Amino acid sequence: MVHAIPKRVQVLVIGGGPAGAAVGTLCAQAGLSVQILEREKGPRFHIGESLMPDTYWTLKRLGVLDKVKASRFQKKYSVQFVAESGKESQPFYFFENNPHEAAQTWQVVREEFDAMLLDNAKEYGAEVSYGLRAMDVLMDGDRAYGVRVRDQDGKERDILADTVVDATGQSSLIMNKLNLKMSDPYLKKASIWTYYKGAAREPGLDEGATLVCATKDKKGWFWYIPQHDDTLSVGVVSSMDYLFGPGRSSLEETFQQELERCPGVLKRISTGQRVGPFYSTKDFSYRSKRISGQGWVLVGDAFGFLDPIYSSGVFLALKSGELAADSIVKGFDQGDLSGSTLGAWEGDFLKGMNRMKRLVYAFYEGFNFGAFVRKHPTMKRHIIDLLVGDLFKDAVDEVAEPMDEMRRELCEASGMTFAEV
Ligand SMILES: Cc1cc2nc3c(=O)[nH]c(=O)nc-3n(C[C@H](O)[C@H](O)[C@H](O)COP(=O)(O)OP(=O)(O)OC[C@H]3O[C@@H](n4cnc5c(N)ncnc54)[C@H](O)[C@@H]3O)c2cc1C
Repeated sequence: MVHAIPKRVQVLVIGGGPAGAAVGTLCAQAGLSVQILEREKGPRFHIGESLMPDTYWTLKRLGVLDKVKASRFQKKYSVQFVAESGKESQPFYFFENNPHEAAQTWQVVREEFDAMLLDNAKEYGAEVSYGLRAMDVLMDGDRAYGVRVRDQDGKERDILADTVVDATGQSSLIMNKLNLKMSDPYLKKASIWTYYKGAAREPGLDEGATLVCATKDKKGWFWYIPQHDDTLSVGVVSSMDYLFGPGRSSLEETFQQELERCPGVLKRISTGQRVGPFYSTKDFSYRSKRISGQGWVLVGDAFGFLDPIYSSGVFLALKSGELAADSIVKGFDQGDLSGSTLGAWEGDFLKGMNRMKRLVYAFYEGFNFGAFVRKHPTMKRHIIDLLVGDLFKDAVDEVAEPMDEMRRELCEASGMTFAEV
């Protein structure tokens, strides 16, 4: 039974992850009435724990940076790649390009990080409603005018809104409702991960480094993400067919089998104890054909997700939340909540996302960043810029041609299809 007198807000955000918190906070800061709906009853577990340095700028705008700085989250200064043989590259230190404090970032526990962002949204005046699940977006043709929600007791009601922001992550409510999903045919990946305590850590500056460790025959890779409280997040990513194909049994067994194929990770976790269950997910690379319509806009994973390899997910979620908020505020100022106004940032955002996508494709094609930088030393700063998240400037496009040349050679040698970006 649906409630008779619906409430009305100016900005209704569905989803309390980083994207939803960012858009909600900035709209509230601009004086708009904002409600953020989160289906979970309270702070919840989530994957996506390694931040990119350029999250700094959005966290600063949100007014939450000092809280993150004062937190116990593990500091991260670099990312390091480990070959299938166990041979380690030099770490890519983010401060090499820019010795600003923004070059240091964090390995976060998402339950704590996301709660911090939502609490901050509340402090700026957004209403945050845990335990309210959006069941449907109310639409009149292409115009969104509210959301039907269900509370913890199963009661349904409508909340009316001038703007609906879909920040539901991989649930992608509007993308699925309007059939807008485009899966990435080159990235049919899956992942299994878990947590350890007592595993080996690098000393000093490298203690919080993300390690990306290739498995034998480059079938996949492990992430090695040291968090606070001596916790370590470890996960494997590989093609769906390989990880969940014939001959596999439990998640635990598959994880162990892949671990045996990855000396770089195996030696490090040998002193540790597993402290979490095994989690899995698959087919997570996609994007929506559209980003907005009359009264609605998509942010974060609800618009699209690339791949976990460079830890760009939370950065892009925060950035898209920021860009969408600016468009929404402008829309209210001008009395124009059309799709073209709410999604005016799409072109620039996609340009940045595609710059990252080239790096993602290159990685799975077997691209060797060390060899590339040795051949093109002047490109190292662009590579670091991309790894930091400095994606929204044309200067980094200098890397495109030489990289594509090397990618083509690799694809020709291996028989893989070259994926145009
Ligand atoms: C294997 C893997 C590893 C990853 N590792 C990293 C990493 O190291 N670093 C990184 O930056 N990113 C990583 N990511 C990506 C990262 O998880 C996401 O990009 C990021 O969480 C997106 O944020 P978001 O706010 O868009 O969505 P989410 O964080 O998913 O938040 C969406 C929220 O919406 C809520 N919700 C969903 N449906 C409804 C509904 N109907 N009603 C109300 N609420 C709803 C959910 O409960 C959730 O809280 C990884 C992803 C994968 C798959």
